[in-house]
Amino acid sequence: MSRLVIGLTGGIGSGKSTVADLFVEQGAGLVDTDAIARELTLAGGAAMPRLAAEFGPGIVAADGALDRTAMRQLAFADASARGRLEGILHPLIRQLSTERCLAAPEPYVILAVPLLVESGTYRERCDRVVVVDCPESVQIARVMARNGLSADEVKAIMAAQATRQQRLSIADDVVVNEAGLAEISERVRVLHAKYLALLAEKLKAGC
Ligand code: ATP
Repeated sequence: MSRLVIGLTGGIGSGKSTVADLFVEQGAGLVDTDAIARELTLAGGAAMPRLAAEFGPGIVAADGALDRTAMRQLAFADASARGRLEGILHPLIRQLSTERCLAAPEPYVILAVPLLVESGTYRERCDRVVVVDCPESVQIARVMARNGLSADEVKAIMAAQATRQQRLSIADDVVVNEAGLAEISERVRVLHAKYLALLAEKLKAGC
């Protein structure tokens, strides 16, 4: 494992990717579980043979990638499909993210996990957790603008996620992403310095 792993989480549209990119600009490594999930389900992705065996050729698009529409329809029609899909993907995501945290050459790694609060195992692997936070009304407006969803559709997604309070209760650090990029850039600079100092302490203590 890279010597220091900082879990990064936040609700949908809170600005996780934006904040993760700012940490990378400062020199942090980034391991993004969402990106790994996409990678695993591209043509030739490591999950594809098992997904095809489990769900049949109908969920494989012509180019060999996961046909997301077909998979969604199947999950809608068959209540067990989502659990079976996660049963295949989640262990692979856990394994790959651990390997990449270990291999990262940067002084510390940001491990971006959208559902970090909901899935206990990632929390155990993080030295600290940084939560990207903003009012729910801001999350709704951003996701409506970005994905063209209605307010009710965004609210339904948010209702299936941990609450703002649950996320804040596990945060060691918070990035308030309500104002402009200048404010969060400055906050990330401060946190970057703090993480380098924590790493130095950890190394001194021989961990
Ligand atoms: P998701 O959970 O949906 O993947 P996320 O938490 O990674 O989202 P981002 O993709 O970083 O969030 O941001 C959501 C949207 O809001 C993007 O379109 C992004 O450009 C915009 N955004 C993020 N932060 C700000 C900000 N401070 N000011 C204006 N727009 C922002």
